[in-house]
Amino acid sequence: MLDFLVDGFGRRISYVRLSVTDRCDFRCRYCMGEEMTFLPSEQLLSFGEIETLVDLLVGRGVTKLRLTGGEPLVRRGILDLVARLGRRIGRGLEELTLTTNGSQLAGAAERLFASGVRRVNVSLDSLDAGKFAHITRRGRLDRVLAGIAAAKAAGLRVKINMVALKGLNEDAIEPMLRWCAGEGFDLTLIETMPLGEVEEERTAHYLPLDRVKEELETRYRLVPSLARSGGPARYFDIAELGVRLGLITPISDNFCAGCNRIRVTATGTVYGCLGHDQKVELRGLLRTGDVGGAEAALDMLIAGKPQRHRFDIAAATPAVERHMSVTGG
Ligand code: SAM
Ligand code: SF4
Repeated sequence: MLDFLVDGFGRRISYVRLSVTDRCDFRCRYCMGEEMTFLPSEQLLSFGEIETLVDLLVGRGVTKLRLTGGEPLVRRGILDLVARLGRRIGRGLEELTLTTNGSQLAGAAERLFASGVRRVNVSLDSLDAGKFAHITRRGRLDRVLAGIAAAKAAGLRVKINMVALKGLNEDAIEPMLRWCAGEGFDLTLIETMPLGEVEEERTAHYLPLDRVKEELETRYRLVPSLARSGGPARYFDIAELGVRLGLITPISDNFCAGCNRIRVTATGTVYGCLGHDQKVELRGLLRTGDVGGAEAALDMLIAGKPQRHRFDIAAATPAVERHMSVTGG
């Protein structure tokens, strides 16, 4: 019988999002500043340290692991790590997935599948090359679309994540929905969250998804779906298009009651909540081989996991100082 990780509100932690790097080849406006300083690589958990941590987590009932970043596919040797972690699938770990901006996916898709990955989330905020370049500051739409096509061809299920941004891509939501329907992808829309300082005023681009939903409901029937990922999304089936739409609404509709996750940064800091500073540092313990100490620290974190985030989009300062690329989106 596994000794599960259960927090003070009775929530069992079965899902871990693990950032493998804070670096990224894009500079999405809502996520990063134009000029970012990234960590020296010796501060990152080594692959061996990541494996030790994953074994610890799986031993305590974590069944789902999502690699993220920054951009996970820019970390050197990442496909070797995926292959190594993939060996745990079916031995406690049920699912290994990845969230990516897609820029390097074309060259990675087949190896991801061969390592046991079956689903990827790809962030895509516009299908218009100019708007895409504007939002990501450095992204090339054609490369991302090639990456998505390669993922599909390799047999990976693709879910598209799109941050809904007033004035930047609100008119792109319906075209994206139709494109996803045609490709057989699910689409999840995300509200912008106040994480880290960015140059642009975030409130200016905050688009409440309830408004988007109302808009869509004038043309389509959105049937609430029973599907839940244990995550924050609410899902709707749109029969007219044959597509499933997820809405992640941290601001307009708090979702914390069912939270089953924790987040690990690339340097081995574990956060109980995306919107709080409650954390433990595991790198030192992992580096000295003190797995028992790491487990005790993890238990302490879980015991004190905050009940809910307190994001306020209109607040003068971000809810937490770290960017999404640091905590791992
Ligand atoms: N680079 C990868 C990507 O873009 O998919 C993985 C990391 S990224 C931080 C993970 C997700 O977080 C992306 O879907 C991105 O759009 C989202 N994200 C980043 N900053 C955000 C913010 N401030 N509010 C809401 N979503 C954000
Ligand atoms: Fe990079 Fe992802 Fe952040 Fe965009 S959202 S800057 S792709 S980490």
